[in-house]
Amino acid sequence: MTEKKQFRAIKGTRDILPPDSSLWNWFEQTAREVFESYRFHEIRLPIFEQTDLFARSVGAETDIVSKEMFTFRLAEGFQGSAKDGEQGVPQAGEQVSLRPEATASTMRAYIEHNMQALPGNVKLYSVGPMFRRERPQKGRYRQFYQLNVEVLGQSDAPAIDAELLEMLLVFLKRVGLTRTTLYINSIGDKNCRPQYVELLRAELRKVKNSLGPDSQRRIETNPLRVLDSKLPHEQEIIAKLPRISDHLCAECRAHFAKLKNELKLRGIAYEENWRLVRGLDYYTRTTFEVTAEGLGSQNAVCGGGRYDGLVELLGGPPTKGIGFAIGSDRAILSIEESGNLPVLPGLDVFVAWMGEPTYPAAVAIARKLRDAGLSVELPGEEMKFKKSLNLADKLGARYALVMGSDEVASGTFTLKRLADAEQQKLSEYDLLEYLESEKRGTRG
Ligand code: AMP
Repeated sequence: MTEKKQFRAIKGTRDILPPDSSLWNWFEQTAREVFESYRFHEIRLPIFEQTDLFARSVGAETDIVSKEMFTFRLAEGFQGSAKDGEQGVPQAGEQVSLRPEATASTMRAYIEHNMQALPGNVKLYSVGPMFRRERPQKGRYRQFYQLNVEVLGQSDAPAIDAELLEMLLVFLKRVGLTRTTLYINSIGDKNCRPQYVELLRAELRKVKNSLGPDSQRRIETNPLRVLDSKLPHEQEIIAKLPRISDHLCAECRAHFAKLKNELKLRGIAYEENWRLVRGLDYYTRTTFEVTAEGLGSQNAVCGGGRYDGLVELLGGPPTKGIGFAIGSDRAILSIEESGNLPVLPGLDVFVAWMGEPTYPAAVAIARKLRDAGLSVELPGEEMKFKKSLNLADKLGARYALVMGSDEVASGTFTLKRLADAEQQKLSEYDLLEYLESEKRGTRG
């Protein structure tokens, strides 16, 4: 006898089931509407790319690239699609990784498709899963979902940063995430940051023995990341370290000051957090994060910042850029925890038909109601009246359309509102009109 094997989802991945999936669809649809109102357009990206793309952009020393990527080799015999003389096309044997974030892929696509030739700033968003081998916990998964937004172009005007933040907050408000805090910082650019990093490194070396092993290692690999530390005993030490805000060059200081003015102009509340350095190498100047209540330790729902120079680093033309990623899993968890849930469309009509001769009329009206945009459940087999209404109730139908031989003979329908059992007899025309306008919420 063959053994019965049960299959389970892989650790750190999960199924998003109904009715949660409706909440997810609404969340993503709202994002699309808000982003498109700011002239962003969707870009759909591959789920895997050359490992090197992530190593170069996110940074080989970051936790994401050094520890967390799902990496495999393209099998021998894999045919790259290089045309004569074309460079960089992945070939057999090469390492590829499931994407841990979307900015690198967006930059690769921007360069590959010459998008700098497009008029105005190039404003792109993408929606989809990311993969990181992190320790799973509440709000932290190995396959998680992001809404990723990027603005690319020739200008680094602080107004671009501010408008992006405005859009982010408009979106969060629209989905009911109001108990949030926006943190901002400037981490300088290639003119001033290297000196600051060296100063920080020198100061950190002096206190090395008081730091934990992660921070000790980061003194050499990426000292800025020490500022991210949440270890309680390191907090007092970190508080005394030199702050980037005291070491910005004149241009970066002016950029940050203008950004804050732009935020005030838009009525956007923020808090400055000098320790907000973000874990990825490509950031310059503006960095930001939004936290939401009710999420425990994994409370960051969005992170982002400016990355002027990233396109160039990946072999493209000089380009300025800024973007953010919203963690959908966490944002939706926070919406659920707040209890501030939207009313989502459910089943409108359950067709409770009885008697085989009634069936053709039931099929026909179900089609018409569905054409009119209503959600309709039509049982494929005859059911007893009581059982039918019971099921309609359990499925959360708003109405039962009762169809027996009397109704078919008289050409009318009995529409029963399940919430209060109120019934009305209607002609087909009136039924359609009633349900359609009721669905639109316009019935006087
Ligand atoms: P990052 O790309 O690290 O800046 O992350 C941006 C946002 O993605 C974070 O603020 C989180 O909301 C979300 N996020 C990052 N990693 C995970 C994860 N492992 N599970 C769930 N959400 C995540």
